[in-house]
Amino acid sequence: MPAEAEQVDTQTPRRSPYDLVVIGAGVVGLACAWRAAQAGMSVLVLERDGPGAGASGVAAGMLAPVTEADFGEESLLELNLAGRELWSGFAAELEELTGLSTGYADDGALVVAADRDDTEELRRLHDFQRQLGLDASWLTARQCRELEPGLAPRVGGAILAPQDGHVDPRAVVRALVAALERAGGELITSAEVASLDTAGGRVEGVRTVDGRRAGARTVLVAAGAWSARGGLAPEGGGPAVRPVKGQLLELRVRAGHSPPARRIVRTPRCYIVTRGRAAAEDGAHVVIGATVEEQGFDTAVTADAVFRLLEAAWEVLPEVGELELLCARAGLRPGTPDNAPAIGPGDADGLLWATGHYRNGVLLAPLTARTVVHLLRGAPPPEALRPFHPGRFDSSRVA
Ligand SMILES: Cc1cc2nc3c(=O)[nH]c(=O)nc-3n(C[C@H](O)[C@H](O)[C@H](O)COP(=O)(O)OP(=O)(O)OC[C@H]3O[C@@H](n4cnc5c(N)ncnc54)[C@H](O)[C@@H]3O)c2cc1C
Repeated sequence: MPAEAEQVDTQTPRRSPYDLVVIGAGVVGLACAWRAAQAGMSVLVLERDGPGAGASGVAAGMLAPVTEADFGEESLLELNLAGRELWSGFAAELEELTGLSTGYADDGALVVAADRDDTEELRRLHDFQRQLGLDASWLTARQCRELEPGLAPRVGGAILAPQDGHVDPRAVVRALVAALERAGGELITSAEVASLDTAGGRVEGVRTVDGRRAGARTVLVAAGAWSARGGLAPEGGGPAVRPVKGQLLELRVRAGHSPPARRIVRTPRCYIVTRGRAAAEDGAHVVIGATVEEQGFDTAVTADAVFRLLEAAWEVLPEVGELELLCARAGLRPGTPDNAPAIGPGDADGLLWATGHYRNGVLLAPLTARTVVHLLRGAPPPEALRPFHPGRFDSSRVA
């Protein structure tokens, strides 16, 4: 078949309804699509831009429930811990099926104190972590430098979370696309969904801005920070999702130099993640992140963010100054009023949401995919997922 004819064929959604149409090819939408296709369902993913064009292409990729744990977010912590449990098997399966790396590493994370104020703050955080029974221990300054010799002399102590880890989210997106295709799923890029097709209170498919229609038994909205935009929910409403801007820097370890640290190093002002050779073909990369900004859909990289992130990283790991600066990026986290995701049935039959993962979408992608397949099979939402039902925001809808 000539190449042109092949292209036309794959870009035309089939006439009979898909079991599942997914809106958005971020790490959440792709993970759900892959698992559904593996379960024998016919699956189509529609992506406005390209895979990983949203937050998933920017994220640092930390799988760090312990060092992300915050006061008042205990039920989210339970979910995040369950999410991390799934990652090593998920990464191994993806890598084996596709031959592509995910950059999975579970070397642990250190939250270091750069001054006396930090020490007090981290001591309180460590007490909280111990009350919750988390695997986290307090290290003296000497113990810190034994683990990470690149730490600055000013570091006065740290929390060690030995099980926190990370992946390379862009590598994960590439592997998920390959795995989806192998499982028989379809992905159409440059296909922006304009609206849901509904009949008699039931969602029966979607329409793209260029007039294509895809029929579906179930539509899954996994459009990240854009999930609340008009058209992706019946009657114009949507889950209470808003964009939360995050900027980060990507640097490279130069030939002949060693990475500044092996584990994730965090302070109250930044985090530093070293991605090994497996994830980056041209040598270890170092990611420094991230800002948290309420700026609407703005994704401009600002000089102020670059300056502050570099300064915050340099004060605890001075060798950061020797790295080659590759780029700075900004992405939009899908935030919700309680910082927790919205996973489950939407307002109409035939509609599911998997969105609002805020700072933990990479961490929670395998667990979200498992839950979505469970719901697609007609099972009731698992008990542990009840606090994350999309309907909990009914009184605070974003129009
Ligand atoms: C700076 C930064 C650092 C982060 N660090 C981490 C981290 O260390 N660990 C972690 O777990 N998480 C992290 N996150 C959060 C994580 O990136 C997100 O939670 C996650 O990527 C959300 O995935 P998603 O698939 O829901 O959304 P996205 O990745 O945003 O994907 C949504 C997709 O939907 C598409 N889309 C939107 N509207 C439409 C439409 N109408 N039709 C078709 N397609 C559409 C978009 O183009 C996009 O590709 C970070 C985020 C940022 C910004």
